[in-house]
Amino acid sequence: MNASVRQRLHAIDGTTTAFDELMSRHTTYKVGGPASAYVDVHTVEALQRVIAALNQVGLPYLVLGNGSNVLFSDAGFRGAVLHLSRGLDAVALQRQADGSHTLVAGAALSITRLLRYAKSEELAGLEFLGGVPGTVGGAVRMNAGTRLGELSESLVAAEVVLADGARTWLDASQLDLSYRHSSLPAGAVVTAARFRTTDATPQMWTRLDEVLAYRKATQPLTMPSCGSVFANPPGDAAGRLIEAAGLKGRRSGGAQVSEQHANWIVNTGGATATDVRRLIDLCVTTVRTRFAVDLRHEVRFLGDWADWGDA
Ligand SMILES: Cc1cc2nc3c(=O)[nH]c(=O)nc-3n(C[C@H](O)[C@H](O)[C@H](O)COP(=O)(O)OP(=O)(O)OC[C@H]3O[C@@H](n4cnc5c(N)ncnc54)[C@H](O)[C@@H]3O)c2cc1C
Repeated sequence: MNASVRQRLHAIDGTTTAFDELMSRHTTYKVGGPASAYVDVHTVEALQRVIAALNQVGLPYLVLGNGSNVLFSDAGFRGAVLHLSRGLDAVALQRQADGSHTLVAGAALSITRLLRYAKSEELAGLEFLGGVPGTVGGAVRMNAGTRLGELSESLVAAEVVLADGARTWLDASQLDLSYRHSSLPAGAVVTAARFRTTDATPQMWTRLDEVLAYRKATQPLTMPSCGSVFANPPGDAAGRLIEAAGLKGRRSGGAQVSEQHANWIVNTGGATATDVRRLIDLCVTTVRTRFAVDLRHEVRFLGDWADWGDA
């Protein structure tokens, strides 16, 4: 990136920009090469300014939440990684005259803080997100969920900034939400979300505690990962198929198919994105050969993977 583009990005009000920033510092896998620019964005207006500037200089961008569902390439990204932060993490309860209520949360808010707020206000409708380590924006993009439910059940609408800089609310029905999938317009950045909530019951919070305890007992939460790598195929479990294919515990460099849960590939220390990707591809090809099932990636491959042929 040339000096004048750097200077221009650096000068945008409401942002903090680092150059040649390693994405391994911003992903839960702790892998990923350098992005030309890493832009912390503090307001929606600043986001609009950044997108306008990037469009003008012809630099591509992508958005990163907490980096908990991504595998960022070792090659990094020749473009700008936008990260919504401080200023875009507010949460507020809106009560209607009929007694119903909705909760509006900024895209940068962590799911943990969202649930803490819901608990303090005695609101139900989001507890199924318990233990998901992402942001509101990432959860909308991924239609995040657990065995208890998924975001689409509570999402009313999402506010986005579109690739042309326009700011608008999209109704949940416009997002084509299905199992760990959404169809946001290309280049759209989620800036806030509105959720339907109901009055909480005490049993609900006990259930949430049980789910968190279950996760702790069954998932390799102490090692860097992206959670489940694959979506479960209809009527089956990706982890069961990978285990039945004999791949549990398989290693590639510092990456390993978790001994605890075969749908998780963990960074045991010093893994590269390439190590992880090799294991992902091995799971896909082996499960396809053994069981004629095509595993769908839940993890998102970000950055430059141009030289990588799909398994
Ligand atoms: C230990 C662990 C456990 C997990 N358990 C679960 C689980 O139970 N259920 C589940 O669904 N997921 C789970 N995940 C995966 C992950 O936490 C979720 O997918 C989460 O919703 C991702 O949010 P994020 O902010 O980290 O998004 P990121 O990982 O940063 O991004 C994910 C995708 O969303 C896009 N994106 C992020 N923010 C925005 C935005 N504001 N606007 C537009 N696009 C955006 C990114 O470009 C990328 O394509 C787990 C991950 C880990 C590490």
